[in-house]
Amino acid sequence: MSGSVLVLSGPSGAGKSTIISSASPYIGSYYFSISTTTRAPREGETHGKEYYFITKEEFEADIKTGNFLEYAMVHDNYYGTSLKPVNEALNDGKLVIFDIDVQGHRLVCDKLGDITTSVFITPPTLKTLESRLTSRGSDDMDVIRRRLHNAINEIHEIGEYDFLIINDTIESAAAEFVHVANAARLKYGSGEKKAFIENWIAQ
Ligand code: ADP
Ligand code: 5GP
Repeated sequence: MSGSVLVLSGPSGAGKSTIISSASPYIGSYYFSISTTTRAPREGETHGKEYYFITKEEFEADIKTGNFLEYAMVHDNYYGTSLKPVNEALNDGKLVIFDIDVQGHRLVCDKLGDITTSVFITPPTLKTLESRLTSRGSDDMDVIRRRLHNAINEIHEIGEYDFLIINDTIESAAAEFVHVANAARLKYGSGEKKAFIENWIAQ
């Protein structure tokens, strides 16, 4: 493997998707890992674009087969990262970007820690998060309440991340994300470093 990994986490409504699309033209080529979930698609979401939407039974069959690099239960739904496309992208030397929760971040660090950089993204305050979730208009009040409750738990995990981006204005948050993504590309795995040293001495 010669690629590297960038894990992006933060509460639902933090602005992760918005930041990735704003930063996308400035971070070179990368592979965005499309997750699989059992949650229902929101209005405007399509199968294979934002997520692969499957049933709980299908998801559990995939777990048994060992198809996931990591998976977790988030807000009462399964979310998971398929192993095969990620391995292929890493073997191609790509930067692989994951939008996954704090549990998924821990699992990715266990497996790919030496090539992983992580960034936690959040709006400046809980109140801002609430108003952004409300104005996004994609979830009902019950779901928003559950997401805000979850956000209070997630915010305590900031210390586990390499970087923190406070998404106040989209312009400055996207600019910071560009720096983080370009730094993530420069992370070499221990195998690559060892090979480099051997080659460096031999030349
Ligand atoms: P996530 O992908 O983290 O769930 P989104 O990217 O969908 O979050 O953003 C949630 C909502 O907040 C969207 O309606 C988006 O347009 C809005 N938003 C994102 N960043 C900002 C910002 N800096 N200022 C104002 N609104 C924002
Ligand atoms: P949403 O339903 O708002 O799209 O996502 C809810 C949460 O699930 C977010 O925190 C998001 O980062 C997380 N998530 C999305 N895909 C995955 C995944 O494949 N694995 C894990 N562990 N979390 C995910």
